[in-house]
Amino acid sequence: MAAAVPRIGFGYDSHVFEEGRPLVLGGVAIPGCAGLKAHSDGDALIHALIDAMLGAAALGDIGAHFPDTDARWKGADSRDLLARTAALVEKAGLRLGNADVTVICQKPRLRPFIDAIRESLAAVLRVEPSAISVKGKTNEGMDAVGRSEGLAVHAAVLLLPL
Ligand code: MG
Repeated sequence: MAAAVPRIGFGYDSHVFEEGRPLVLGGVAIPGCAGLKAHSDGDALIHALIDAMLGAAALGDIGAHFPDTDARWKGADSRDLLARTAALVEKAGLRLGNADVTVICQKPRLRPFIDAIRESLAAVLRVEPSAISVKGKTNEGMDAVGRSEGLAVHAAVLLLPL
């Protein structure tokens, strides 16, 4: 696909917490909290970002490229999946312009980890940290996320022509 115009994309992911696993968001380990149940490392933030990038390029979704039925992706480092996604997007004639990500969780508080997450994602995507926004919100105690059964992530991206 030769893309001559900017392309917008949106991604969403949610996972339930599971005791005994490390919590990893945006490639950053966050101490003091249960991890996320998943076939891969459960990095829901990166999964939402991958879906946003694939969506912007109309390349399908994360499940099509990295199926959880494939042993190759068991325990996968989601940063590796993100790097592979960036390569797919580049092959389609696009590069990341910027990303804006919102993580919704009742706990932990993400503020102390936001800059580390932005730098982690920027390093994988080979962009400046200023191109990556990450925001944390609670769900004001409402619903499953509000009861800390899991967390949810929304991601928007703009891809630019190469
Ligand atoms: Mg996921």
